[in-house]
Amino acid sequence: MSIQAINPATGEVVATHDEMKPDVVAGIVESVHAAALDWRRASYADRAVPMRKAAEILRKEARDFAHLMAREMGKPVRDGVAEAQKCATACDFFAEHAAKFLAREVVKTEARSSFVTFNPLGVVLAVMPWNFPFWQVFRFAAPGLMAGNAAVLKHASNVPGCAIAIEEIFHRAGFPENVFRTLMIGSGAVDAVIEHPRVRAVTLTGSGPAGRAIAAKAGRLLKKTVLELGGSDPYLVLEDADLDLAAAVCTKARLVNSGQSCIAGKRFVVVEHVRAGFEERFVRRMAAAKMGDPLDEATEVGPQARADLRDTLQRQVDESVAKGARCLLGGSVPDGPGAFYPPTILTHVRPGMPAFDEELFGPVAAVVPVRDEAEAVAMANASPFGLGGGVITRDVARGERIAADLIESGCVFVNDAVRSDSRLPFGGIKESGYGRELASYGIREFVNIKSVCVA
Ligand code: NAP
Repeated sequence: MSIQAINPATGEVVATHDEMKPDVVAGIVESVHAAALDWRRASYADRAVPMRKAAEILRKEARDFAHLMAREMGKPVRDGVAEAQKCATACDFFAEHAAKFLAREVVKTEARSSFVTFNPLGVVLAVMPWNFPFWQVFRFAAPGLMAGNAAVLKHASNVPGCAIAIEEIFHRAGFPENVFRTLMIGSGAVDAVIEHPRVRAVTLTGSGPAGRAIAAKAGRLLKKTVLELGGSDPYLVLEDADLDLAAAVCTKARLVNSGQSCIAGKRFVVVEHVRAGFEERFVRRMAAAKMGDPLDEATEVGPQARADLRDTLQRQVDESVAKGARCLLGGSVPDGPGAFYPPTILTHVRPGMPAFDEELFGPVAAVVPVRDEAEAVAMANASPFGLGGGVITRDVARGERIAADLIESGCVFVNDAVRSDSRLPFGGIKESGYGRELASYGIREFVNIKSVCVA
């Protein structure tokens, strides 16, 4: 079996890699376990040295990494450069803050001394997706390695070059050999890695089906999981919204990463009173986004990462239109090579349509008309997902109230597009998964929170 990267802008094969045999995989996991035994004894200051060096490499070579991402999954290069730089920021952030986040906590009891420690678990398996092929990995690895864990990465099969480059970054940065290793395997080989007795926990970013399969397998073995799955983020455009701002925020939210982000805006829940004005502005902005060659610096929307995912999007659009949605922009596959799909807007979207009930993993926006705030909140929450969301209103106190108290999701941004940030916890509820990444919450997911009492 082989693992192949195909350039989605051209359909050409970028590289083919042999899949590792089971005994090779098991041997690597053993080596990573051996490395973990030493790594857990290193001080935070010692761990921070190679972590900061990894940040330096990411910054210095951001353009090379961006070209690799563009070739393997079609990300526009300027987005790829920003992604590599964001990874560097996470490395620096956890190099600086890990010691504080995981410092002993003294708790007063009847004992002479009592406190809580945060010990590493050992080898963590990371199963990662292609959409942010660097960021998703560093978002786990920067806190994970700073906590004293070691890691094996099973990356998505369409980005093998990114998987190898990330392993090399850690190696070149001076991490001890085998603290971080890439496994060149397909999804069929993941169960055996979860079963390996040295693997103590699993983190997955990806689809619901993959989440269910991995959580079931790990659950039977009583191994901890963190799941970061899909989303269908709602953006509420209220009757007091600045419509130019609303159109700008919603366009940015929908087109991030050519529409292929778990936290992209997908459902735009718009109060009827302002719908016409919003749609007119939204169509103008979405239509102006430049789609094309990801290697062109001016490109804002690249191809979809794989032709099959583009075809799924078309099926979701067609079925939604057949059920009564109206297409305001785009809506069909353009002629020519590559897995391109144009910015698309559907309106009159309701529950029962794929554009409402399923995740639209591409540049297709679903406008959902509502009467008022109460119906907007109800529609926002009438989704199986609960990852992020937005509220657009001139009344900041109102936005804050809706965000904090009413929207069922892991994060809500008022008058801005959702984005992840090392300083804030990130994750979802409902079918968007469980557990948190980033901030002090993320670094504590893969540690043993141990109570110590000395009588
Ligand atoms: P996916 O199938 O979930 O892939 C994510 C990772 O999980 C890949 O490494 C994949 O390996 C692995 N995987 C898939 N099924 C598995 C299984 N049964 N057991 C073990 N590992 C498994 O996602 P995708 O096909 O790339 O994208 C499909 C959908 O997933 C998208 O339309 C979107 O809904 C969602 N998605 C969400 C995110 C997010 O950030 N939340 C990211 C990407 C995709 P292989 O590549 O070898 O199959």
